[in-house]
Amino acid sequence: MKDIEDLSSWLAKEKLKRPIIIAGPCSAETQEQVMDAALQLKSHGINIFRAGIWKPRTRPNSFEGVGAKGLLWLQEVKQKTGMMLTTEVANAKHVELVLASDIDILWIGARTTVNPFAVQEIANALRGTDIPVMIKNPMNPDLSLWIGALERIYNAGLKKLIAIHRGFSTYQKIKYRNDPQWQIAIDLKRRLPNLPIFCDPSHICGNRSYIEEISQTSMDLNYHGLIIESHPNPDKAWSDAQQQLTPNDLAQMLNRLVIRKAEVDNENMLSTLTDLRVMIDHFDNQLLDLIEERMEVVKKIGQYKKANNIAVLQNKRWTSILERIIEKGKAKGLSKNFINKVFEAIHIESINHQARIMNDKKNIETPVVKIKS
Ligand code: PEP
Ligand code: MN
Repeated sequence: MKDIEDLSSWLAKEKLKRPIIIAGPCSAETQEQVMDAALQLKSHGINIFRAGIWKPRTRPNSFEGVGAKGLLWLQEVKQKTGMMLTTEVANAKHVELVLASDIDILWIGARTTVNPFAVQEIANALRGTDIPVMIKNPMNPDLSLWIGALERIYNAGLKKLIAIHRGFSTYQKIKYRNDPQWQIAIDLKRRLPNLPIFCDPSHICGNRSYIEEISQTSMDLNYHGLIIESHPNPDKAWSDAQQQLTPNDLAQMLNRLVIRKAEVDNENMLSTLTDLRVMIDHFDNQLLDLIEERMEVVKKIGQYKKANNIAVLQNKRWTSILERIIEKGKAKGLSKNFINKVFEAIHIESINHQARIMNDKKNIETPVVKIKS
């Protein structure tokens, strides 16, 4: 896959500058909604329009897309606005219909990328064309599966490829709908340096209030573009209502993004450092999420102790936790002093959470119990 044409060859020919923005509703719902979204987005300078026609939904009996008639609405968008069009395909029939409908770019969704049979079927249906194809990461954090899907499309003769990073599903409750796991996209970049990567903050976040921070991180990581869901009336959207932005909010958000210049001196060094720093931020966030989750369990124990009249501080238990953790830490190359400090701090915070429960106190900044650390 070494010779995947990079952005400078085919995207530049389309006169598309980084960051390339693709926007539009999660789903095409009605002819009016599609045209309304497109006209508003176009007025804000967006030139590539997305809309899902066939929607892979987690549960049955949800809206599963308007189907082929939506392609006519998209064609109308192109006639009236001149925008380029992109939509999702999940099987050979979709490919056939889309190729006959003047769609400019296809995308393969996360639920399809996981399935090599489906990806191969799409690859076979695309053979002989050179339409650009965007391939979302699979739902599960498996870089090989993502690369495998890219290879299947590439081996069918399609060279205009883009990877879309849309995050990975997780059973654990986290801030975002899908865990970004930036390190996987960074590894993909290392393995396939010529492959353009776009970020899909909408499906990472699941909530419109986080779209900006995720978009900014992807720009800091030098992603080539963004694909963002935008709907004229997001709260009334038939799918993914919480994560869509109005075209106006999208335009304002894009204006606030800080885009690093591509031609900084020593670009390689800078981008390596940025990649590593983003990973550090990612792990710090994970640490915080884990500590939050731990505190929730601590509070449950506190409630149980209160109901059963058990004292907060259970010295034996704490000593055994500490001994075990110090041993484990040693095996991971972490000093006893460091482990002591970190876990003592966690322990004190935990005791205070429980003591607050015992005493019905709310303010988390004032410690109920003061323990010498
Ligand atoms: C979409 O882009 O609307 C979509 C269904 O995304 P994903 O495959 O990332 O869930
Ligand atoms: Mn969606």
